[in-house]
Amino acid sequence: MEKDQYDALITRCPSLGGEVPFVYCRKANQGGPCSRLPLCWDGRFDVLIYIQRFYSQEDIDRYFIQTGPGRLGHILNQLERVGEMKKEEDKKNDLIEAIHKEAKDGRIACVKAWLLADQFSYPKHEMGKLLNELKIKIIKCQLGCF
Ligand code: SF4
Repeated sequence: MEKDQYDALITRCPSLGGEVPFVYCRKANQGGPCSRLPLCWDGRFDVLIYIQRFYSQEDIDRYFIQTGPGRLGHILNQLERVGEMKKEEDKKNDLIEAIHKEAKDGRIACVKAWLLADQFSYPKHEMGKLLNELKIKIIKCQLGCF
């Protein structure tokens, strides 16, 4: 997906009462996106994925997150959830990087794995699954199981 790939799409602007291209909407707010962009473009393409891809959490908070009734409120709530998912994804990527730093020869001590889970607020019961996905073996089990 490219940032300008939807620029030529046209919609009717409820504020201006005429047609505008998407490029106008994404620059309408002093170079930033119009706050109604998620609502106006909902259903034309996957606008939430677009916002997630091309705007930082700071931008999302600044331009889009606001309380609103009805459909706009619903879309903004979805957007907030997308932002939270993005934060979770970033946190998980940081955890994976930390695991790779700690692991030696594809192994990590149980206590280190637990400490990393605490540090990144990652559920301990998910840690085993994540280490399996990364093909990293847990050694020196604190419970003495292995
Ligand atoms: S996003 Fe803003 S500028 Fe674009 S059509 Fe909607 S109200 Fe108009």
